[in-house]
Amino acid sequence: MKLLMTRRSSLRKKSDKCVTAQGKYSGKYALTEIMVCGECGSAYRRQTWNILGRKCLVWRCVSRFDNGTRYCKQSPSLHENKLHKAILSAINEYYDCKDSIKELLKSNVEQAMAGVSLKETKEIQKRVREIDDARNDYITLIAAGTMDEEALDEQFQKFYTEEQELNSRLKALEENNSIDNNKRSRITQALQNIDSSSCELTEYNDMLVRKLIECIKVNSKTEITIIFKGGMEVIVPVEK
Ligand SMILES: [Zn+2]
Repeated sequence: MKLLMTRRSSLRKKSDKCVTAQGKYSGKYALTEIMVCGECGSAYRRQTWNILGRKCLVWRCVSRFDNGTRYCKQSPSLHENKLHKAILSAINEYYDCKDSIKELLKSNVEQAMAGVSLKETKEIQKRVREIDDARNDYITLIAAGTMDEEALDEQFQKFYTEEQELNSRLKALEENNSIDNNKRSRITQALQNIDSSSCELTEYNDMLVRKLIECIKVNSKTEITIIFKGGMEVIVPVEK
């Protein structure tokens, strides 16, 4: 495997190779945002091919896809699995700051752990406080003798019903959390594993690609150029 590596000045301007004709996509796949055609500068887009009933995922130049060979004549389609493999090997081999990969993986795991339930718990607690404040306001009005009593009864009943619902939801969330203790210890273990591992990535990961890579240029069917954030540029072979 022959690779070429250069380090650019950290003061270099942002590579204009990364600006595509279509502008930036904000999509599901990290590669949609960073991969450009070496021939015409258009973005690359993910496509599903159906070959004799078998699904096949490939990445193709947008211009080639939209206009055939009119503007872009030579650009190759790349099989996603081979592309991912090439990117992965480049990250493993050239990204010299292994610690930051570990930090990224850890923050990802932690985010997944905190998850939705924490957010929901906070929202419910906020609403409970709001109800409490509103009730206090009404009590002030009662004291001042400016409220119709019947209307108040109804309002207090509404508060009470909502509060009951919120509290039972809170309780359910707490129970969920305690069941999740098991899960939590597995996650703690996973975090420790990340710490003690050599941090060789074994699976392609969109999140990491977004954080680490600024741009990928498709040179040919068997070669891409990867520009890491920070400026390191490597030429990486892609399996045929
Ligand atoms: Zn092209």
